[in-house]
Amino acid sequence: MDYSKYIKNVPNFPVEGIQFKDITPLIGDGQAFKACIDEFVDFAKEKQANKIVGPDARGFIVGAPVAYAMAIPFVPIRKPGKLPRETYSYDYDLEYGSNSLSMHKDAIVKGDKVVIMDDLLATGGTLEATIKLVEEAGGQVVGLGFIIELVDLNARNKLDKYPIKVLLKY
Ligand code: 5GP
Repeated sequence: MDYSKYIKNVPNFPVEGIQFKDITPLIGDGQAFKACIDEFVDFAKEKQANKIVGPDARGFIVGAPVAYAMAIPFVPIRKPGKLPRETYSYDYDLEYGSNSLSMHKDAIVKGDKVVIMDDLLATGGTLEATIKLVEEAGGQVVGLGFIIELVDLNARNKLDKYPIKVLLKY
């Protein structure tokens, strides 16, 4: 399926100079959303993932349905102060601004095979932080899945030891 017609480019959002890729038309179309999730389910099955991890907040939208379809756990990576129990935390830089992410310490155990899902790969900062959290807990990252990759930002250079599945490149 050609997903590109479901992605809207929004200039200067959320700040001047950023070309924001809006995925809401894609998840707003039932057939396109299902086709997109099905592709990631195939990928996660091929990688023999036993857990899906997704960063706050759009990683939840794409990650949770993959976990549901495979009947395996979904692990949310959240912004500071949101998770109620003991966490691992990691600070990182965004395409615009900076952030910190946390994960419950018991969400991943040694030997877990994890596919990390997010809507979009920009600088890779979010993904690097998420990988750090999974690996700190003893998990093995067996794949990364994104709807969109912004190729000019070269995030792949940092992530080249992991298999990556991407549906659209800009
Ligand atoms: P990175 O950490 O790779 O620089 O940025 C990726 C994260 O920022 C993702 O979690 C993604 O949701 C968000 N993000 C950055 N730019 C965009 C964009 O243009 N469109 C969307 N939908 N998300 C973005």
